[in-house]
Amino acid sequence: MAETAYIALGSNLEKPELQLQRAVDDIDTVSGMTVSACSRLYRSDPVGPPGQPDYCNAVVAVKTTLKPLQLLDSLQSIENAHGRIRSVRWGPRTLDLDILLYDNQIIESERLTVPHYQMHVRNFVLYPLLDIAPGLELPNGKKLKAMVDELSYQGLNVIAESYPWI
Ligand code: ATP
Ligand code: MG
Ligand code: MG
Repeated sequence: MAETAYIALGSNLEKPELQLQRAVDDIDTVSGMTVSACSRLYRSDPVGPPGQPDYCNAVVAVKTTLKPLQLLDSLQSIENAHGRIRSVRWGPRTLDLDILLYDNQIIESERLTVPHYQMHVRNFVLYPLLDIAPGLELPNGKKLKAMVDELSYQGLNVIAESYPWI
C-alpha cells in the first residue's frame, strides 16, 4: 500500500533553484515514489555557521511504497548524486533531503527520526509544508496551522509560485 510522506528540500550551493528543481524530478523518477504535490519555492536566511549563501527551500509530498529506511536510502543516493559533501554540521550543501513525516508514524531509530526533530522550529520547513498540506495534523495531534502561527516569517521570501519553479 502507498503511504504519504513529506520531504523537505534545501540547497545553498551551485544554483540552488536548479538543484531543487532537479531533485523533484529525481525523486519522481525513483521506483516506488511519486511526487504528488510541490510547495512554492522559498529563499531563506542561512542557519548554522555564519557567512554561508542564502538557502532555497521547498517541501514535496510523495506517495511511496518504500519503507521508511528504504526511502531514506533513496533520498541519500539523490543527495550524493547532487555532489553532497558532509563536512561542517549545518554547513553549505548542494542538496539536503529530510523526511519530515511518513504516514502518521513516529520513528526513532539510529538512522531515522520522524517526525523530523527540528521541523517545529524551522519556518523554512513549516511554511512550505503548509502550502501543500493546510489541514495537516502531526502524529502528536498538533495542527500544522497552529504550529506555523507560532513561527515568524522572518527571513523567508517566496521566489516562485508553482512547479516547475524555473
Ligand atoms: P538536520 O537534520 O538538522 O536538518 P542535516 O539535514 O544537515 O541536519 P544530514 O547531514 O543531512 O543532516 O543528515 C545526518 C543524518 O541524519 C543522516 O545520515 C540520517 O541518518 C539522519 N536522519 C535522522 N532523521 C532523519 C530524517 N527524518 N530525514 C533525513 N535524515 C535523517
Ligand atoms: Mg536538514
Ligand atoms: Mg539532512
